[in-house]
Amino acid sequence: MHVRFWGTRGSLPKPGPDTLRFGGNTSCVEVGTAAGTLIVIDGGTGLHALGQEIVKVGKPRNGHLLISHTHWDHIQGIPFFAPFFMADSHWHIFAPKGFGSTIEETLAGQMQYAYFPVRLDQMRARITFTELVEGEFEIADVRIRTQYLNHTALTLGFRLEADGAALVYASDHEPYAAGLAGGNEPLTGKDLAHAEFAKDADLLIHDGQFTADEYDCRIGWGHSPLPYAAAVARTAHVTRLALTHHDPLRTDAELVRLVGQQRLSEPQGSTVKDIFAAAEGEVIELG
Ligand SMILES: [Zn+2]
Ligand SMILES: [Zn+2]
Repeated sequence: MHVRFWGTRGSLPKPGPDTLRFGGNTSCVEVGTAAGTLIVIDGGTGLHALGQEIVKVGKPRNGHLLISHTHWDHIQGIPFFAPFFMADSHWHIFAPKGFGSTIEETLAGQMQYAYFPVRLDQMRARITFTELVEGEFEIADVRIRTQYLNHTALTLGFRLEADGAALVYASDHEPYAAGLAGGNEPLTGKDLAHAEFAKDADLLIHDGQFTADEYDCRIGWGHSPLPYAAAVARTAHVTRLALTHHDPLRTDAELVRLVGQQRLSEPQGSTVKDIFAAAEGEVIELG
């Protein structure tokens, strides 16, 4: 199983000299298996470059897009995804089942004429939709589990298992118990269940938008302080933790410093051997 980050920024695209290293595009992760299954997690602005790559190198034109939730930074790349304009491709979109509109209606909403010149139903690819709740299902050779996260919108985390490896994606999540922000207290209750969802994963991609101090002033915004993300990884016996959903105000230099601090503060005996900030363009092989 390979993982490639196409967008690691949270909330708002942030191109510029201060974000060259970790990237300015919003949430998008490509997952590919040895058998050739293509699964994309989230369709932020990073999806545009992935679409260009698919067209350029002639990778499979069929794929699967898992959307964690429909905040802009997770869907804004969809109208610009080149494979959706190709008549001979088939894409299957999965997203949490909402309370009001369907996922198709919500995605069509951001493509109304006031916002975009092409309607969703005018895109030439065959696009099918499945609405998700918590549970398990399979896409070809990939076993997938979903679990709700603690965010301001109904949001799912994804656990993907294939090729003898497990990957967990949990972006746009904050501690259920705000007292866990410092990362020193043992996880309990729903925070423990959150960690168990990631149990023994080869890679945990987790929200790490804030420092613990920043989080104090942003409780309820739906994003995690770095020490909490590390505590989740440690509790889950994960070896590699990729922090993502970088704050739009976070420069590359600040991110290097914060991740370095987090590595140093990891307690002895921790299973977490590698903590890093997810970087646009980075490829990781698992299994
Ligand atoms: Zn987000
Ligand atoms: Zn969000």
